[in-house]
Amino acid sequence: MNRVYNFSAGPSMLPLEVLEKAAAELVVYGESGMSVMEMSHRSPDYEAIINDAEAMLRKLMNIPDNYKVLFLQGGASTQFAAVPLNLIGRTGKADYVVSGQFSGKAYKEAQKMGYDVKCVATTKDDNFDHIPTVTKDMIRPDASYVHVCFNNTIYGTKYSYIPDTGDVPLVADMSSCIISEPVDVSKFGVIYAGAQKNMAPAGLTLVIVREDLLDYADPKMPTMLEWKTMAENGSMYNTPPCYTIYVAKLVYEWILSIGGLDEMKKRNEEKAAVLYDYLDSQDYYVAPVKKCSRSMMNVTFVTGDADLDKKFASEAAKAGLKNLKGHRSVGGMRASIYNAMPKAGVEKLVEFMKAFAEANPKN
Ligand SMILES: *Cc1c(COP(=O)(O)O)cnc(C)c1O
Repeated sequence: MNRVYNFSAGPSMLPLEVLEKAAAELVVYGESGMSVMEMSHRSPDYEAIINDAEAMLRKLMNIPDNYKVLFLQGGASTQFAAVPLNLIGRTGKADYVVSGQFSGKAYKEAQKMGYDVKCVATTKDDNFDHIPTVTKDMIRPDASYVHVCFNNTIYGTKYSYIPDTGDVPLVADMSSCIISEPVDVSKFGVIYAGAQKNMAPAGLTLVIVREDLLDYADPKMPTMLEWKTMAENGSMYNTPPCYTIYVAKLVYEWILSIGGLDEMKKRNEEKAAVLYDYLDSQDYYVAPVKKCSRSMMNVTFVTGDADLDKKFASEAAKAGLKNLKGHRSVGGMRASIYNAMPKAGVEKLVEFMKAFAEANPKN
């Protein structure tokens, strides 16, 4: 069977070049005589892999030297707990911006631990159709940090600006937009991301943390969640997600080979424009997100008729355009067009949308 265009929000498409390289090296890696899956994480071959992965990511994202890069397990959801546990010691308080489901979960997790947490801005009353405007005066000056979700995977919104939080460290969940375009890491205290959207298969969680923020952990916290312990042990306090880190390295290598994040951004903008330009040119489909907050990675749209939406997703799947059904909590359609989605896939989707609208008139 041929490969389809997979619009899944995550786990999602990986670049074909990466899958082919991984396949070629699957059984025997280099001169090691074994698969990466079978290697000790303490072996010289594996150490080279994880060190290269970190070096390539640092180059790709231009990560300053005073930031640690951690390759962890547990998914982005584990970081919803790890963030307060590692940082609350600064002042005992934390502020949250709730712009969608995942940032809501992060907020609730911190609340659950009994900390003094405050939601400083939300767009809940507008069905999360845009990103709130966050200004310095909204933030408690004695907050340990401000947490945001930079790209809302479910609603299809993204920050078009980096909030100015003054001296309060900005913590961002970038699970669904990491390495999709250049970002000024120095504006953030912590960036974290589950890998399965734009970076690697599931099982790896990336944390990029400014060194001076490693000293505020709650002393009673589980060691496995402590960034400082992980940083001091080069992400190898215990066995890291070895194979997933290896695939992430292949993904970083691929992006570097095409010209880095500037080129990645250019391609992603072109792809997203194919879809948004079409959405803006007609009235059969409606894009519910306000233009100022549109995501380049997750594009949501509806026909306005739940039965038609259902028919759309199932007929699209038959045409080789898979996983276009919107998140179960929102409905409609969602096209996740991460780094690995080729422009041809988005063009094919737009052709399908036109044909579907023609064949299924609304009355
Ligand atoms: C998918 C996603 C999560 C959850 O990630 P897990 O790795 O499944 O825990 C959190 N935040 C955002 C923005 C996501 O897209």
